[in-house]
Amino acid sequence: MTRRAAGGPATPSGNSPDLLAPQRDRRPDPGRHVCGVVPPFLLARLADRADGRVAQSARHTLAVQRTLRVQRETRAGLGPAGRRAGVPAAGPGDRAGFVPERLRRRPDVRPLRRPPADLEPGERAEREGARAAASPHRSVHDAEHGNALPGVLRRAEGDPVHADESVNEAYDGLGATWSLFHEVYGRDSLDDAGLPLVASVHFEREYENAFWDGEQMVFGDGDGEIFGSFTDCVDVIGHELAHGFTQYTTGFVYVGQSGALNEHVSDVFGVLTLQRALGHEAREADWLVGKGLFTDSVRGDALRSMKAPGTAYDDPRLGKDPQPATMADYADLPHDEEHDNGGVHINSGIPNHAFYLAAVELGGSAWEGVGRVWYDVMTAGRLPKDADFPGFARATLTAADARFGAGSAQVEAVAGAWEEVGVAPA
Ligand SMILES: [Zn+2]
Repeated sequence: MTRRAAGGPATPSGNSPDLLAPQRDRRPDPGRHVCGVVPPFLLARLADRADGRVAQSARHTLAVQRTLRVQRETRAGLGPAGRRAGVPAAGPGDRAGFVPERLRRRPDVRPLRRPPADLEPGERAEREGARAAASPHRSVHDAEHGNALPGVLRRAEGDPVHADESVNEAYDGLGATWSLFHEVYGRDSLDDAGLPLVASVHFEREYENAFWDGEQMVFGDGDGEIFGSFTDCVDVIGHELAHGFTQYTTGFVYVGQSGALNEHVSDVFGVLTLQRALGHEAREADWLVGKGLFTDSVRGDALRSMKAPGTAYDDPRLGKDPQPATMADYADLPHDEEHDNGGVHINSGIPNHAFYLAAVELGGSAWEGVGRVWYDVMTAGRLPKDADFPGFARATLTAADARFGAGSAQVEAVAGAWEEVGVAPA
């Protein structure tokens, strides 16, 4: 395993050296894709409608995110001639630098796992043995209210509980997510190659978001008035890490319908992480994303609801939850940041609701039935990066058919769910 000595550089242990290079005092790399759990439109509403300190925190959070985005686009636009030393340019077909170059070049990245049926018996036993013996490599750091990442190491894998509650919540949330992917789906971390899980807590001051920056998790403390600490919710941690899973699998481009699918997949594996941690079956789960993130002063339950998209909150400062549940209310928005990249956090309500409907129809543990189908879709290697809802729906039917058989309850439940939300598989 990889273990970082406090104050010292990472120690490579068989993984790619450039991934494990010392990261101390680096700022969030603008070449990476930044996916925050709180959509920009919600922060913009707070900046407009909330009182003094909260509005200021929202403006600050937006400004930090905008800086990351502008710098990222500047880098993506730099060709080899204009590239500054050490600054990776986006590769062809990778418009937004979605997968950072250093990750794409990793020799040991295996984005797609061969199904065990394709392996020789000896190789299969070896692979399965290695996977069964796999364990998470977590490290939780403290940004100490600054923006240098990852910050000071507070808890490495196997370390005892730390005095800082946020550190422990992040550590446990990383563990719950790793455990879902490993114990249920047999995956060894986000890349299926033992990627270390790195997190930083106490990012900036009153920072109203948590995000995956393409390489690690980053958590703000919230403003205390609208948002509590972002380490409070296991599903938020699972959501953000699932952006890493998508990065290593389908690589859905973060705009329009493929962007909404990117958000959707994160909501799915986020809620599955929480449901599994709580032992909740599909029919008893609340299907809320980010429940507990809002303080009591907010009129709302959570950031999103997969059960009833559009009903998660309705607050004077936050406005009303804009998520549609079906294609009849699809939000056709411009593909710019002001409009949430074409509504990636808005239209995700439609596939979210389809997943919920299929899971509840089937009953039992959602991570076992529909969750397995969605995992198979993500790892099958058949979807384009710019997949749309009909293409994704078709892939779920193909996967359900392959795993559970034609005419199975799973195929029927998934087909019925897409029909109910108005998506015709294509
Ligand atoms: Zn997200």
